[in-house]
Amino acid sequence: MACLMGLAVTLLVACQPIGAPPLSTPASVEEFIEGASGVGDPIFPLLGNGGYDVQHYTIDLSVDAARNEIAGATTIRSEAIHPLRSFHLDLAGLKVEEVTVNGAQASFERSGQELTIIPSSPLNAGALFTTFVTYAGTPTPIEDADLGFVAQGWNWRDGVIFVVSEPQGAMTWYPVNNHPIDKATYTLRITVEEPNVVAANGVLVEEIDHGDRRTFVWEMAQPMASYLTTVVIGDFVRVEETASTGVTIRHYFPPRYADQLTQAFANTDEMLTFYSDLLGTYPFDAYGAAVMPFPLSFALETQTLSIFGLDMATEGVNAHELAHQWFGNAVTLASWNQTWLNEGFATYLQRLWLEHKLGREFLETGMRRYYAMLSAMKTPAPGNVDARSLFSLSVYERGAWVLHALRLRIGDERFRQFLRTYFTRFKDGVASTEDFIAVANEVSEQDLTDFLQSWIYDENLPPIPEGTVSISSD
Ligand SMILES: [Zn+2]
Repeated sequence: MACLMGLAVTLLVACQPIGAPPLSTPASVEEFIEGASGVGDPIFPLLGNGGYDVQHYTIDLSVDAARNEIAGATTIRSEAIHPLRSFHLDLAGLKVEEVTVNGAQASFERSGQELTIIPSSPLNAGALFTTFVTYAGTPTPIEDADLGFVAQGWNWRDGVIFVVSEPQGAMTWYPVNNHPIDKATYTLRITVEEPNVVAANGVLVEEIDHGDRRTFVWEMAQPMASYLTTVVIGDFVRVEETASTGVTIRHYFPPRYADQLTQAFANTDEMLTFYSDLLGTYPFDAYGAAVMPFPLSFALETQTLSIFGLDMATEGVNAHELAHQWFGNAVTLASWNQTWLNEGFATYLQRLWLEHKLGREFLETGMRRYYAMLSAMKTPAPGNVDARSLFSLSVYERGAWVLHALRLRIGDERFRQFLRTYFTRFKDGVASTEDFIAVANEVSEQDLTDFLQSWIYDENLPPIPEGTVSISSD
């Protein structure tokens, strides 16, 4: 969750004469500010907002899936970090009908993706407050030339609705503090016409039958970054697997592909066990895949319910998206120029699953092949990417090599200890490259700063460290 500075626009309380000593009564001396319109992300400066910290979203949507129209009522429970005269939410498109704060009508303005809310009375620092926004329309996903392979946010295609938001798209369907540093828990109450099925993050806690319409209530009980929220609506069957770890495994498959997809995802439980043993207990209550009835050329690790194009339903991609539940989702990047922290981990952990199945030789050969390729292509460093390189080869493969190099340098036992320490320490929050290096130094009891920085930031690929690996052979 976030602790953010608001813009330093102060409003001195009128009764306080200039030059007078500060009064001691709390409310009258607070300098109410306008909450900032962004958190200052190096790539997306307007994402997120300042001055408050969201604790819980309740998103109540009535969806006309045939026409792709929604009527939404989102309730946001937050804590003011600064005394606030006004604050922002992010919302792209849709028509806002009404805003209340603590039950009282609030005025609001819209400019681009910024929804500015002026409560009828200002909010004191530390105050818990509830914002309620009603809105309607047809959500429009964000088309970003830098990320041309995906329309971010609410997608409607061939009678199916699915949400894939990384990095910006959450604001296409609900008002949100849209940056990973402000994680929150969620309740998703989605009402659709029969016979549509709704899948979303977390656990399906209730289904309410209204005759020709049905409400599905999903509860995401652990903190979640907004880009990981998802909703899937359409003709899907729920397929459950027995999980030896106690986690509920539930997949959502298009009926006509259900048999082959059930087979394709059959070892999800085995993967969950492998990763839980290696990294620490699976951080959420449920997991599964929602596979679309059409190809997408990508999959996304939406929290507890990864979205797959039909063309991506493979063991390798399943291992990658599952690994993201630990790294990416439970431990999330602190800013968007550090996507290597998400993708390097998931790529390397996917390889560890393959190592577990196929042996050490397989891993070593594969990693060295990628090293040769990265070297030949002079792939730039992954540590500080720009908008076009958020999901570049470097982020995945040089990112994975950062971890492999660390493992070769410190040995398997310490590396395993590193993974567990880093996960446990930052679970439910965010971590930065500096945090990553600090934990590596601490666990290895060495100063690896220069070593790791050269792998993360140097233009030239560093030499492969001496060492061998055997993480899965014990
Ligand atoms: Zn990934």
